[in-house]
Amino acid sequence: MTIAQRIKTIRSQIENCCLDCDRNQETVLLLAVSKTKPATDIAKAYQAGLRHFGENYCQEALLKQQILGAYNITWHFIGPIQSNKTRHIAQHFSWVHSVDSLRIATRLSEQRPTNLPPLNICLQVNVSDEQSKSGITLDGLPELCSAVAALPRLRLRGVMAIPAPQEDYEQQRLPYKTLVQAVVDLNRPELDTFSFGMTDDLKAAITEGSTIVRIGTALFGSRTSFTPPNGMIRAKK
Ligand SMILES: *Cc1c(COP(=O)(O)O)cnc(C)c1O
Repeated sequence: MTIAQRIKTIRSQIENCCLDCDRNQETVLLLAVSKTKPATDIAKAYQAGLRHFGENYCQEALLKQQILGAYNITWHFIGPIQSNKTRHIAQHFSWVHSVDSLRIATRLSEQRPTNLPPLNICLQVNVSDEQSKSGITLDGLPELCSAVAALPRLRLRGVMAIPAPQEDYEQQRLPYKTLVQAVVDLNRPELDTFSFGMTDDLKAAITEGSTIVRIGTALFGSRTSFTPPNGMIRAKK
């Protein structure tokens, strides 16, 4: 299948999920996760109509951004953030989905160029994966929300989650449901974004209210051969 055909398939999946749960499909943004894939793949997806692309590794993303400078792409950073990368991220992305500390958020705010609009931020919440070091706990959400919302060069938009993989659809829904409720309880109407769902849990995520689905494999194929380039592996906490 070509990338254009894969996009069609995903779009119709999103449409069907939205029909099933009575949502308007316009409320779900398809974010194409292009990590490890060449700029030519991004160009193909762009020609087929996609405008939002997500990358996990700063240096890799900057290289592709240079190659694709003539394209009107909105770039989202979705990977773990090392503090020595915040300046590049603040300068070259419109969104960051993976903020999980006030220290990183403060740096992004201080380093966001004043000629650009505020950087859109989602806080990454660790809803189910005890293995993972990324993401704040649910308990920590209210405090980090208040602190990040007060930073001048950031625009706090919502939350992102990467639950532990589950086969079962109902099991896939649970962590999202819990997190949506936690956000509702915050009572902050400016929070309009749930960055939920990847290739394998798209339907569960949309059913629970996702507004941005982050799709890699289903658009660009598997990433089996990938080893992160030097300097792109996260330093241990
Ligand atoms: C790689 C990645 C994705 C895409 O995952 P697929 O299963 O390939 O769709 C989504 N979100 C994040 C944060 C990722 O790192």
